[in-house]
Amino acid sequence: MYISREEFLKRQKERQERASNFQNQGPRVSYFSLKEDGDEAVVRFAYNNQEELYSDIFPTHQVTIDGKFRRVKCLRENYNSPLSDCPLCVSGTPVSERFYIKLIEYTRNEAGEIEITPKV
Ligand SMILES: [Zn+2]
Repeated sequence: MYISREEFLKRQKERQERASNFQNQGPRVSYFSLKEDGDEAVVRFAYNNQEELYSDIFPTHQVTIDGKFRRVKCLRENYNSPLSDCPLCVSGTPVSERFYIKLIEYTRNEAGEIEITPKV
C-alpha cells in the first residue's frame, strides 16, 4: 500500500499526539512508599493545619462502571449529612475512607545534593 508524503506526515502527527495524550493521563505525582521493613524517609506533610489535612480524607464507594471497578467520592458532605444526599448511600453501597495525603520527600542524589519530590 502506498500513501502520499502528506498522508504519512499526517498519520505520524496523529500517532505522536495519541502517544503524548496517553502519557498525560498518568499520575503527575508519584505515590510515596517505604518498600522494605525498616526503610526510612525524610518527609514534610504539605499542610498548614489539621483542617487542610482532613479535607484530603473522604468517604468513597466502590462501583462497577463498564465492567471495571471504580472508586467514586460519596456525595454526602460528611457523616452527619442525610443519606438521601447520595444515591449510593441510599442503595446501601458500603462506604470506605480514603486518604490522599500530600507530602514532600527529601532525598540525597549521587552528587550529595538534596532533591525535593512531591508525593502522595
Ligand atoms: Zn455515599
